[in-house]
Amino acid sequence: MTSMMDIRRLDRTKNHPDLLLHIDKALCLACGACVAVCPPDALFLQGLRLTVDQATCTDCDRCAAMCPVGALSLVPVSAPLVPIPPSPISSNGRHSS
Ligand code: SF4
Ligand code: SF4
Repeated sequence: MTSMMDIRRLDRTKNHPDLLLHIDKALCLACGACVAVCPPDALFLQGLRLTVDQATCTDCDRCAAMCPVGALSLVPVSAPLVPIPPSPISSNGRHSS
């Protein structure tokens, strides 16, 4: 017979090894809706701070579907997770002042 622990272990297979769950902290309202639907309990809400355990997350995307403000998304592992500021180097190759 398959126990609840076995089911949770099976759930931990990565659906998309090339993707990571990204939390947009500027958008997150800390409502907890995503935490409640995460099958392997990979999301943690402490006060207003939401974090994800990437090793436990299976990239199922259920949390993103529940988020009322679109704060969660699966992004390529290689994608920058913070905006890259514009380069101070101008088109002529010199640093602008
Ligand atoms: S994608 Fe979201 S709901 Fe699915 S395992 Fe990862 S954190 Fe949990
Ligand atoms: S559902 Fe969205 S707004 Fe609510 S805690 Fe999760 S990421 Fe934040």
